[in-house]
Amino acid sequence: LRVAIRGELEQLLRGQVFASVTRHAHFVRFCFRKPRGRGSRGLQHLELIVSPMLAGCFDLVESDAKIAADTALVVELDDSRKLIYRDNKQMGKVYVLPFEAHDKVPGFQRIGVDVLDEHAFCFDTFRALAKTRRDQVRVFLMDKTALDAMGNAYADEVLFAAGIHPKAWVRSLDDEALGRLHRSIVEVLSEARDIIAERAPPLPQKLRDFLKVRGRAGEPCPNCKTKIRRARVRGYDACFCPRCQPDGRKSTIVDWSRL
Ligand SMILES: [Zn+2]
Repeated sequence: LRVAIRGELEQLLRGQVFASVTRHAHFVRFCFRKPRGRGSRGLQHLELIVSPMLAGCFDLVESDAKIAADTALVVELDDSRKLIYRDNKQMGKVYVLPFEAHDKVPGFQRIGVDVLDEHAFCFDTFRALAKTRRDQVRVFLMDKTALDAMGNAYADEVLFAAGIHPKAWVRSLDDEALGRLHRSIVEVLSEARDIIAERAPPLPQKLRDFLKVRGRAGEPCPNCKTKIRRARVRGYDACFCPRCQPDGRKSTIVDWSRL
């Protein structure tokens, strides 16, 4: 929790009125109304920004609900409910700052192209970004300063949909493969967003049961029934189908064990 404004957090937030909740790339931005009129004396124009990272989640509960052990922040609302932010990995960050003082939030102003913004994330932009890369495709997909934002799960799903091996070098992908990758990012993420919106799980619950390869190592591939494998890519676990996502890097190496 970073309070980038002078004063006690409790005093700063008491009496504030939520004006909007929006998503800015991988940040959730809660803006409070500009204080005016009676009862607003001493209130400052604030916002609260949360970067939930891997495991952060929100919940809205009744005032007498039990508070879970991984609760990081509780905001009491005037309708007797509580807005809760939980994080069992303690990786997420919460910032309280003066309105629009976004220089106080590391990474907020220097983020990559928003992959859910259909105008900003066009193929030409994606291709231009890819042409600057000297790393493996999965590392590129997960770099928030380039593409905002995919974590482990969706990086795996996107590469599976595109039929690209997670360790393929970005520079080895031709325009046809880059086109497939770009389309897969758009399709996989919008489909996931629609499924989650339709099933509307409780706020803190992360729906993952519709993912095709993530978390399914050892299970048959939904396309070809080959066993899904797990590999390490730059310190992260990747799940992929060795048949649908062939490893082009090894195409010139003879596999003696098979002979
Ligand atoms: Zn397969």
